[in-house]
Amino acid sequence: SKKLIATPTRTKEILKKYKFAFKKSLGQNFLTDVNILENIISHTGIDKTSGAIEIGPGIGALTEQLAIHADKVVAYEIDQRLLPILKDTLQDYSNVEVIHQDILEADVREAIKTNFNPDQPIHIVANLPYYITTPILMKLVRENLPVDSLTVMIQKEVAERMAAKPNSKSYGSLTIAVQYYTHAKVVMNVPKSVFMPQPNVDSSILKLVVRDKPPVQVEDEAFFFKIVKASFAQRRKTLRNNLTSHFNEIYDKEMISQKLEELGIDGTRRGESLDMEEFAILANGFHQK
Ligand code: SAM
Repeated sequence: SKKLIATPTRTKEILKKYKFAFKKSLGQNFLTDVNILENIISHTGIDKTSGAIEIGPGIGALTEQLAIHADKVVAYEIDQRLLPILKDTLQDYSNVEVIHQDILEADVREAIKTNFNPDQPIHIVANLPYYITTPILMKLVRENLPVDSLTVMIQKEVAERMAAKPNSKSYGSLTIAVQYYTHAKVVMNVPKSVFMPQPNVDSSILKLVVRDKPPVQVEDEAFFFKIVKASFAQRRKTLRNNLTSHFNEIYDKEMISQKLEELGIDGTRRGESLDMEEFAILANGFHQK
């Protein structure tokens, strides 16, 4: 039997055979370590009944592992040059569908309908291109897809921000945006040495388990996220001052202070000390009905 794709030797062989030159602009850093891949798979919850969706299969390192462990794999790849390569490297696996498309443009809901059974658990798994990690993840979690989890390799700092707790340096509006839709956890840090070529940043594996419903009830989601952003606008400023700047055309400082008092939230606190529930109280309190 052939060697697995995700070894330095086989990867080099494939790159050479196809004279493949990495495109930095597409965030191409391929995984060349089977142990890391098995580790990722073990955190996904994937088994032989599962559907898997991958973003950016590259030359198929992770795709191969998904094909082995899941029932079916759908993989989105933007780089045309990789299509013939994937056809070759994944020829032994009949349960992989590669879609040549920018994930940001893709109708994932439709692809799920077409490729998976209605009762099949679905997991998104990817070693994401780092230049568009946040847009990709926000698209996927906001669309309310019938997906159980997302397990992704991303830049360490971004993973920490998405999984942060209140009163930490990483906690901010991105934390709230992600945790409104999912339970987020950093499951493991990954050294640069397992990638080819090696990226400039450290990486982590982040697991997002999709929530059945949001953890708080907000009257207006867009307004809720605006209030969260405003509260973090200048991290060193108090909540009262950040909100005063944000609402400067409607309320003065006195009115903001009074409103905060009514809501039972101390205006001298900083945004980073508020949890999701308190942001919901804040947003619902300031929301104009
Ligand atoms: N999964 C492979 C691995 O782990 O070795 C490759 C991971 S590499 C970090 C990111 C992959 O995403 C590349 O193959 C790149 O061409 C692809 N990619 C970049 N932008 C994309 C986009 N907008 N939509 C789909 N794929 C994209």
